[in-house]
Parts: sequence; structure tokens; C-alpha cells
Amino acid sequence: MSDRLKIGISSCLLGNEVRYDGGHSRNDTIIESMSGLFELIPFCPEVAIGLSIPRLPINLVSINGEIRVRGVSDTSHDVTDALNHYAVSITDQLDVMCGYIFKSRSPSCGLADVNVYGSRTNKVVGVSGGQFARIITQKYPKLPTEDEMRLSNKAIRDNFIQRMLVYSKKNN
Ligand code: SF4
Repeated sequence: MSDRLKIGISSCLLGNEVRYDGGHSRNDTIIESMSGLFELIPFCPEVAIGLSIPRLPINLVSINGEIRVRGVSDTSHDVTDALNHYAVSITDQLDVMCGYIFKSRSPSCGLADVNVYGSRTNKVVGVSGGQFARIITQKYPKLPTEDEMRLSNKAIRDNFIQRMLVYSKKNN
């Protein structure tokens, strides 16, 4: 068993082929810069709630002021509640994490840069965090989190590592 500190990470960033199109989003910069110090624990909320690989895409939709996650082509396919339940169900695993790295622009995993569409017009009406990421960050407001795209910047990576080490000391 590894004695490295644990970080949660969107599974596709490790090269796992779990994306809706059957591919991955491996990020070698993150893997190489983090895996010496930390054990990277993958989570794919969309696969965890039973969606297939590949699968039809989902997106965020604003409905009467509430953001829901539903199918792009099949708008009756709403996975909001399933993603919420999954996020809550893994809190025992997240309790021992000292950080989380989220995939950018994903309707499930994006931290803050996900397009929100209108329910009828299908035009972008705003931006938000992805559903899974929003539940995690609400439940763990002090947990250090980062977006994979921001971590291409070395100064942001170094700062994130420091924040995780401090968090780990305070929470262990
Ligand atoms: S962004 Fe999140 S939900 Fe989408 S494939 Fe990656 S881990 Fe799975």
C-alpha cells in the first residue's frame, strides 16, 4: 500500500478511456508533476452512475433557474440526481484526500468553466461548475482543488502542491 498522500482526479486525465467518445484526456504534465508526491485516485462520475462507454453527450441546462444535467439529443435523459447521489456516496473516500484535480469543461467534472445552455433555445446562457464538481466543492469548501488546464502553469502547480501539503497537515 502506498504511503503517499492521496489526491482525487478525473479518471480520463490519467489516460483511462472513459470519455463519452470512448477516448481519454491523459495529461502527462499533471501525472509527472504529481505522482512522485501523491497517489492519484481516479473517479469517473459518469461511468460510476452507469453510463456506457461510449455514450451520448450530456450538457448543463438552465431550467427555471435550476441547472440540470441532461442528454443533448434526448432531453428526457436527466442524470442530475444520479450525479448528486454519487458525489455524496464517496465522501468516505474523499475524507482522506488532500486535493482534487478536475477535468476542464466537463458537465460533470468542470470546476467553473462549463457552458450552461437554455432549455429551449440551446444557446449558451451562462457558465458554471459541472454537477459532480459543484457537489464536491460545496461539501468540502476547504479541500484544495484545481482545474487541469490551470495546472499547465508551473506557478499554479507549485502553489497547489503547497496548499495540499498544508491541508494534509491540518486534517491528519
Ligand atoms: S471528465 Fe469526468 S465524467 Fe467526463 S470522462 Fe473524465 S472523469 Fe469521466
